[in-house]
Amino acid sequence: LRLEMQDSEKLRVISELTSVFAHEIRNPMQVTRGFLQLLDEPDLAQKKKEYIQLSIEELDRANEIINDFLSFGKPSNHNEVRVDVGNQLHRVVNLIHSYALGNNVVIKTDIFENGWVYANPQKLDQSMINILKNAIESMPNGGMVWISCASNEDGYIKISIKDQGIGMSQEQIDRLGSPYYSLKESGTGLGMMVSYQIIRSFKGKVQVKSEKGVGTEFIVLLPQIT
Ligand code: ADP
Ligand code: MG
Repeated sequence: LRLEMQDSEKLRVISELTSVFAHEIRNPMQVTRGFLQLLDEPDLAQKKKEYIQLSIEELDRANEIINDFLSFGKPSNHNEVRVDVGNQLHRVVNLIHSYALGNNVVIKTDIFENGWVYANPQKLDQSMINILKNAIESMPNGGMVWISCASNEDGYIKISIKDQGIGMSQEQIDRLGSPYYSLKESGTGLGMMVSYQIIRSFKGKVQVKSEKGVGTEFIVLLPQIT
């Protein structure tokens, strides 16, 4: 008998561990970044300035990776609880609001209030934030993102996140969720892996509709409870 971990199980363990460590690592990184900025004085030699800049960029990159796993809050191993999806989405929109503004993106919501699912609320937030962040980043010149949520006929809560961004080919859509798949210059390629894995752990589904140059819609279906 061979005991092997499935890929999905490996990813789950990686993401659990990462979220535990990430929280503890972020603070010392912020402190280090602060001191590096203090070192960067105007009369410093060009080479030293360069090294400081590179160090700060590397720290920012590490921070991006952490953000894909743990945007906010402490990691929790709490079991799943009853969650009002509409409520949770309003929270997520608030959290992402300033990032959207900074990218000239307006978020429109059409959120149905009384849809309940079994989920870990922090993980649900994280999965939505990673999708929303990509929607915002898909529009380099700004635009609109629509978020809607309603219960559909066959026992699922349907969450839709739609952008007017660059879009994806079928081949790109098929690769979503695999680790380190990124087309961005400084992307982590971890955001979708984390989102897909979280949604799967809630027995949910993800559907992606996209057209190059037109936009993308992510549809997340979560089993509805009463
Ligand atoms: P990252 O954002 O760090 O690149 P992700 O795992 O979050 O990594 O996303 C992987 C890739 O999927 C992105 O680099 C991008 O090419 C593509 N992608 C995801 N969402 C969208 C979207 N809404 N519009 C266009 N491309 C997207
Ligand atoms: Mg991303």
